[in-house]
Amino acid sequence: MVIFAQNNTFMANNTYPTFTDVNTLGEFGLIEKLTGDVVLKNSSSVKGIGDDAAVMNYGNQAVVVSTDMLVEGIHFDLVYTPLKHLGYKAVVVNLSDIYAMNATPTQITVSIAISNKYSVEALTEFYEGIYKACEMYHVDLVGGDTTSSPKGMVISITAIGHRDKDKVVYRSGAKKGDILCITGDVGAAYLGLQILEREKAVYLEHPGVQPQLRDNQYLIERLLKPEAQRGAVTYFAQNNIVPTSMIDVSDGLASELKHICTQSGVGAFVEEGKVPIHPDAERMAIEFKLDPITCALHGGEDYELLFTIDEQDLEKIRYMPEVFIIGEITDASDGIKLHTTGGNIHDITAQGWNHFKAKES
Ligand code: ADP
Ligand code: MG
Repeated sequence: MVIFAQNNTFMANNTYPTFTDVNTLGEFGLIEKLTGDVVLKNSSSVKGIGDDAAVMNYGNQAVVVSTDMLVEGIHFDLVYTPLKHLGYKAVVVNLSDIYAMNATPTQITVSIAISNKYSVEALTEFYEGIYKACEMYHVDLVGGDTTSSPKGMVISITAIGHRDKDKVVYRSGAKKGDILCITGDVGAAYLGLQILEREKAVYLEHPGVQPQLRDNQYLIERLLKPEAQRGAVTYFAQNNIVPTSMIDVSDGLASELKHICTQSGVGAFVEEGKVPIHPDAERMAIEFKLDPITCALHGGEDYELLFTIDEQDLEKIRYMPEVFIIGEITDASDGIKLHTTGGNIHDITAQGWNHFKAKES
C-alpha cells in the first residue's frame, strides 16, 4: 500500500515522515534553516540574506534591494486600518529598510493578491496611499504583479535604492566603545495597536458605541501611518558621518539590538533613562498595566533607525535634529544589558514579534 503524504510525496508502507511545526524554529530560525547554505556566485552580490536589504555592487555604486510582505489578518486588520493608510505604510516599511543601509530609495514594485471582497474603489484608495508615499519619498512605482487570493489581501513590496559602495552601512560593523543611538521614540506603535484592538473588541460587542480614539491620536498614527527616517540618512550624508552599524526598528528595539550585537560580535548596554518614550505612550502603558520600558524595548513597528557611531563622531551628531544617545557598545562577553534607572543591571532578551504564533484561519 502507498499513502499520500502531507507534502504530496508518496511514502512506502508504514514509513511516516516526521513534520516539524514551523513554530519550533521561530521566524529567524526558519530563515536560517531554509537559506543557511546559500553561497553567492556572482561577484556583484556583496551582501545576501541577513541584513535589512541585499547589496549589489556595480562600479562605485551599490544597489540595495529589500522586500517585505504584509498579510491581512496577520500584519493588518481592515476593521481599523484605512486602505489609504495601508498603502502608505506598506511602502514606508520597505523604504525604512533601504534607509537602514544608509541608502536612498528610488524605485518600488508592488505585488498584490486580492480576494473578491475588494472593490475597484477600495483598491484605488489603497493605491492613493501608495502614490502619496511615492510622492513624499520621491520614489517611482516601476512594476509589480496582480493576482487573486482565496481569502483577504496579501501585499508584497520591493524597494530599490542606491549609495556609494563605501558608504553602505551593515548590521555588522559595531565595535566596542561605539555610541548607540536611536532616531526617535519607541513603543508608541505597539500601544497604538493595543488601543485599536481594545476598541475593536468593544465595537464588535456593541456596534453602536463610538471608539475612544481622540486622546490617542499620536499613538494610533505611529501605528497606522509610520514614516521612514529619510532625515537621518540625509543628515549623515551632509555631515560626512558613516554610522558603524545600522538597523531599522521593525520588530522591537531589543530584537534589533540583538541583531547588531550578534552580527558585529559585540555586546551593548542601554540606559533605561535615556530610551525615548513619548508621554502618551507612557500614560497608555500604565493604563494597560504594562511597563513603559518593556513596551519601548519589545514593541515593534516604530520604524526608527537604531545605529552606532564611532565615539570620535559624537560631536558630529550633536546637532542632528532627532537623535537620542541610549547606550554604548561593549565586549561580546559583557552581553546585552539594560542599566535601569534604579541602578540595577538586567539582561535584555529579544522577544520581537512572532507572526507564526498568530492563529491560522
Ligand atoms: P527585516 O525585518 O529587516 O525586513 P527580515 O527579518 O524579514 O528583515 O529578514 C531577515 C533576512 O532574511 C533578510 O535578509 C531577508 O531578505 C531574508 N529572508 C527572509 N525570508 C526569506 C526567504 N523566505 N528566503 C530568502 N531570504 C529570506
Ligand atoms: Mg529591517
